Amino acid sequence: MDIKVLDALLKPRSIAVIGASATPGKIGYTVVKNLIDSGYEGKVYPINPKSEEILGFKTYPSVLDVPGEVDMAVFTVPAKFVLDGIEECGKKGAKGLVIITSGFGEVGKTDLEQKMVEVAQQYGMGILGPNIVGVLSNSMKMNASFAPTLPLPGTGALVSQSGALLIAIDMATFTRRVGFDKLVSIGNMSDVEFADLVEWFDQDEDTASISLYIEGLKDGRRFIDMAQKTHKPIIALKSGVSAHGAAAAASHTGSLAGAAKIYGTAFEQAGVIQASTLDNLFDRSLALSLQPPMVGENLLIITNGGGVGVLATDAAERYGIPLKFAPEDVQQELKKYMPEFGSAKNPADLTGIAGADWYEESVRNSYMHPWVNGLTVLYCEVAITEPMDVAQSIKRAIDDSGITDKPITVSFVGGEKTETAMQWLVENGIPAYGDPDAAVNAMAALHEYANLKAKRAPLALAPNGDSKEKAMAIINKVRQDGRDVLTEIEAKKVFEAYHMPVPKCELAATAEEAVSMASAIGYPIVMKIVSPQILHKSDAGGVKVGIENNEECKAAFETIMANAKAYNANANLHGVVIQEMAPWGTEVILGSVNDPTFGPSIMFGLGGIFVEVMKDVTFRVAPINQSQALDMINEIKSAPILKGTRGESPKDIEALSATIANYARMIVDLKDEIDESDANPVIVYDEGDGVSVVDARIILHK
Ligand code: ADP
Ligand code: MG
Repeated sequence: MDIKVLDALLKPRSIAVIGASATPGKIGYTVVKNLIDSGYEGKVYPINPKSEEILGFKTYPSVLDVPGEVDMAVFTVPAKFVLDGIEECGKKGAKGLVIITSGFGEVGKTDLEQKMVEVAQQYGMGILGPNIVGVLSNSMKMNASFAPTLPLPGTGALVSQSGALLIAIDMATFTRRVGFDKLVSIGNMSDVEFADLVEWFDQDEDTASISLYIEGLKDGRRFIDMAQKTHKPIIALKSGVSAHGAAAAASHTGSLAGAAKIYGTAFEQAGVIQASTLDNLFDRSLALSLQPPMVGENLLIITNGGGVGVLATDAAERYGIPLKFAPEDVQQELKKYMPEFGSAKNPADLTGIAGADWYEESVRNSYMHPWVNGLTVLYCEVAITEPMDVAQSIKRAIDDSGITDKPITVSFVGGEKTETAMQWLVENGIPAYGDPDAAVNAMAALHEYANLKAKRAPLALAPNGDSKEKAMAIINKVRQDGRDVLTEIEAKKVFEAYHMPVPKCELAATAEEAVSMASAIGYPIVMKIVSPQILHKSDAGGVKVGIENNEECKAAFETIMANAKAYNANANLHGVVIQEMAPWGTEVILGSVNDPTFGPSIMFGLGGIFVEVMKDVTFRVAPINQSQALDMINEIKSAPILKGTRGESPKDIEALSATIANYARMIVDLKDEIDESDANPVIVYDEGDGVSVVDARIILHK
């Protein structure tokens, strides 16, 4: 998206309000009034053929009559007038269109929405919306929306797909003490989508962090690519993660909310920090807009109360930054600022008799110690200290330390005075929360940010020999044959082209052929039906394992063919595949889908009941490299079975991770061909003995 378009939407020099009204209560009135009340310093041009003047501004019949330049146009006219208005804006040379008007994609009028975008693009304009509240910016003193006021000032930007929620968040910024510089309502995302705004915010000097309320993304891959390139933290709250919620979100904005699992993993791959609730989005946004990432694992907690200390300790473990005992020198230093009965371990309990001076000294000294990677300071309101004194001591200690690359979060528990003190802390750049859990969770967000930043890898691929050519030769033959399902033999050849080990296979059309092939491969062998119409071969009585000799082979051939005919009389039977019998090992599953939002994505899990009953599987948007494949293996609950437990030998995780990465590579290379695929099972052997893909399935796009 052209940067000029986004500049016009977020930093316009002049604004026309198409459908401005002199009647209080109308949106066209509210927008003009809001622009005045917020102190917008650019030009405002109300457009309305029936008025002379609105709120002291001269009114023009059409945007074409405006004497000066028009950067941005805000539409509040009914849907049926929008197209003509856009055409006029184009002729006028406007760049950004904010379409507040609803009645488009969300009510099924996708054609009208599409047409709108086409016209806008012809003139090099971009559209925010339709079906939105508008755009608000403190740094621009611009409330180009029908939300009552600008939010509490802050350094973050927030984008919401829900308009009502945007207004609610706007109001809540004051009670929650979490400010934002910008609030953007994105609505139907007919044109400008999350990725465009993320890209623009990344270069905007007034934006320190980016918070997103997402119902569904249009182009998930573009979002991942953009998020990976961003230098600022992105925090996302994704709704529609339950099956019922997904349906509600889809009917709400007319966009498709993808499978929750893939969203979660895609956010991780993109380096996006997730929020679990609206409160959590506020809490995390505050920390990420004010504090640097927490690099390292050592969190120190300083408290004056044992109770909140224990609550925070529990929270630290829950959120992935479990506490460790502080090293001896840190403890020695801390002991200077507590009575005999205090504790210097971690949490460091200064006890209820701690004054603001002890807070100041202990915070300054421990914050400066290299062992400490992050500091959370807790304070329970007690009679002997004033909350504001403690707040100011903490701030002084942090400033004196001269350290700016380590995060601090604070929790004050108490009454009105603690509220005032926390407000002061936030205004002075230190995130403060009423609940120790929130202060630790905010620190965890800063920790996640550091880790995600280090881990995110672009979804780009290096060239990969002739794998694709070989695979396409097989796929083209299947297409020529008028099929979209590969047989196991064909699918295995495609897997083999991508360097995944498969057992030796031969197709036998007769029992005689079967016997001679079996002897050539060497007993024991496995025999399976080969038919494009029989996808689940065992269900059709089409699999025989452990065939030991010619007699068994001959008999198995006849039985398999007979079973298949009985199972599906119309199935086209190519014959029976004779294959090397892979030795016993641990069975795992690989699968792929083409996610509607993120494209080719892979699944990995342990076979059998682990996948069917426990649903113990993990996903990634493909491609992934071998170290990301290792993460997948480590992340399933049954990972210890592969890593070796209770006398069981460790499995060949090296070979398995290579296979997973090759598989991911295959489904990306062939994404225009493969609709879904799986390798079920892949047998994994002991360390050094490799893996074997004993069953493979590929279904092409129709
Ligand atoms: P389907 O999934 O279509 O029913 P499979 O090819 O997966 O058929 O075969 C069923 C089971 O037989 C597999 O789960 C695996 O346990 C076993 N099996 C299949 N092929 C082999 C082989 N080449 N070596 C060893 N075991 C095999
Ligand atoms: Mg199978």
